[in-house]
Parts: sequence; structure tokens; C-alpha cells
Amino acid sequence: MSMSSEANSDLYFRQVPVGPMANFAYLIGSRTTRDCVIVDPAWEVPKLLELARADDMTVTGALVTHYHPDHVGGGMFGFEVPGGVTELLTHANAKIHVNKHEADGLKQVTGVGETDLVRHDGGDIITLGEVAIELIHTPGHTPGSQCFLVRERLVAGDTLFVDGCGRVDLPGADPEAMFRTLSDTLGKLVDDVTLFPGHDYGSKPTSTMREQRKTNMYLKIRSLSDWMRLMGA
Ligand SMILES: [Zn+2]
Repeated sequence: MSMSSEANSDLYFRQVPVGPMANFAYLIGSRTTRDCVIVDPAWEVPKLLELARADDMTVTGALVTHYHPDHVGGGMFGFEVPGGVTELLTHANAKIHVNKHEADGLKQVTGVGETDLVRHDGGDIITLGEVAIELIHTPGHTPGSQCFLVRERLVAGDTLFVDGCGRVDLPGADPEAMFRTLSDTLGKLVDDVTLFPGHDYGSKPTSTMREQRKTNMYLKIRSLSDWMRLMGA
């Protein structure tokens, strides 16, 4: 596969399997300025920092897809993940980038302070060197879930998996919002976009939107009533 656009050569991008729940963290940055952000630093934060250091990259931030502890650390519903964004903050001079609808929940789950946060709207852009990361608000799994689009890569958190999608039966989830997110918001992405999910739940770690539109049953449902029936709502 050729990905030969000029700015693409500046892109630093690593998918890293972490923890006992088949999570993926991501390192995204600029090869010229040598700074990067970590998407969803929950498990194995020292390992993620060491990977960045070994690549001569400085970690300047964390991008939060959503506030569940397996993505950011902390505790919720009696489920605890040690480490996470608070551990990252003790080792790196970093800001935590979160959707404005998820920020208060993130503080509750992780104990992170307001001064460490950057609250974002959907459509905001974070720039590292020549690498622009677009923040896309994708409610459904949680109110402030967000996906990150960089070049033709979609880092999707628990919104979209290879041949699956995030649960909509947990507190804070909204099945109807998930339908709009999958059909309208992610429906606008071109076929060549590659999906990089928040968990390794499929038969392989990545897929294209072209392929997902053929094989992912959650992307094939056309009506809200069919969707709500499938979700048992
Ligand atoms: Zn989740």
C-alpha cells in the first residue's frame, strides 16, 4: 500500500498492545519535531514511555478516547486500573486532551486535576510538526467519546472495532447516539481510511473502512428502528 503524501513522511505512528484486556494504545507524533502524544495511556505506562524514549520522541500529551478505566486508568463501578493518565503526568510534562462532554467524568474516574486538562470540542485540531490530528466527537459508548483522524487513519477507541462496535448498555451510553455516530459521522469517512481500534477484538488489529462496510454488521444497519431492536432497546 502506498501512502506517499508529502506530510505523511513526518508522521510517527505506533500501535501498541497493552494490558490484560486486549487494549491498544497509540503513539502519534512528528518525526521532525520529535514530539508525540499517547492515545489512551492506561496500562503499562512505563512501557509506553520507554517505547517513545527509545524512538527519541518526547511525550507532550495524552489523547483520551473516553473515560473508562481500561483507557485512562483509575476506577469506576468497582473496576480499578492502576496507573493511567495520573501516572503519565508524574513522568511527562503532558496535557490530557479530552472532549468537553467527557472531562468531568474523566476527573471523577482518574482524579486528574483541571489544570492538567485541555477540554475540546469536536472538530478541534492538535498539531505536532506537520502532523494534524482531528478530534471527532463520536458519542454513543460514552457521552464524550472521541475518535482521532490523522492522515487516513482513524483511531477509534471503543466506538468502532474490527467487525464490532462499543457497548451501549453501560451507564452513560446512548444507543441512538451510537447509531448517528456510526451512520452519519463515521459514514463520511472515505473507504481508504484505516481503522485502528481501542481493543484487539477482531480477527486482525486493523482494517479499512472499505472492508468494514462489507463485513461489520454494525455499519450495515440503515434504520434507527432496526438498530434499536438489535440493541434490545
Ligand atoms: Zn469503553
